[in-house]
Amino acid sequence: MITALYPGSFDPIHYGHIDIAKRAATLFDKLIWAVYDRPLKNLMFTTEERLAFMREAAKDTPNIEVISYNSLTVEFARRMGAKAMVRGLRVTFDFDVEYQTALTNREQAEEIETVCLITTLKYAFVSSSILKEVAFAGGRVNGMVPPYVEAALRKRLAQLGDDGGDKIKQVSLQE
Ligand code: ADP
Repeated sequence: MITALYPGSFDPIHYGHIDIAKRAATLFDKLIWAVYDRPLKNLMFTTEERLAFMREAAKDTPNIEVISYNSLTVEFARRMGAKAMVRGLRVTFDFDVEYQTALTNREQAEEIETVCLITTLKYAFVSSSILKEVAFAGGRVNGMVPPYVEAALRKRLAQLGDDGGDKIKQVSLQE
């Protein structure tokens, strides 16, 4: 039985993330889709909210387990018995970052492989920060996120008012 870990900030999830999670679930016996739970003030959604979006997205894919973690990612992968870490690649910039992260992670845990899946073309432009920016500016995000994420995004932006702009910055595991 081969388990893989798909870690990230997922603030919030979008169709690009969901696509990678579901494709990875066809490659491994079990996929642990994990959100990094950390007290960062510029996150737009709480860990519980991000987990709820992910659970909804994965509800028809029984071999995906949704969970949060707050340790070093490779340590968590090891603890969960994962043999691979899944990452998604959109553009060459992603490759540069993932390459460096994968080499760093191998220094920590050489038994865990990094497996990068190339995005599906129609999601190549989608990122959590772009969709938050578009929603903040009043644009449509229905091609980027499921309806339950869009509704939560609109509600949160309405609550935040002008402060919503502070929450738009991309937060990343790499930071
Ligand atoms: P991070 O892991 O840096 O905190 P995210 O939570 O946004 O960032 O992304 C998690 C993973 O999903 C990363 O490997 C990222 O490259 C990948 N990803 C993000 N957007 C897309 C997309 N549109 N298509 C494919 N993969 C993506």
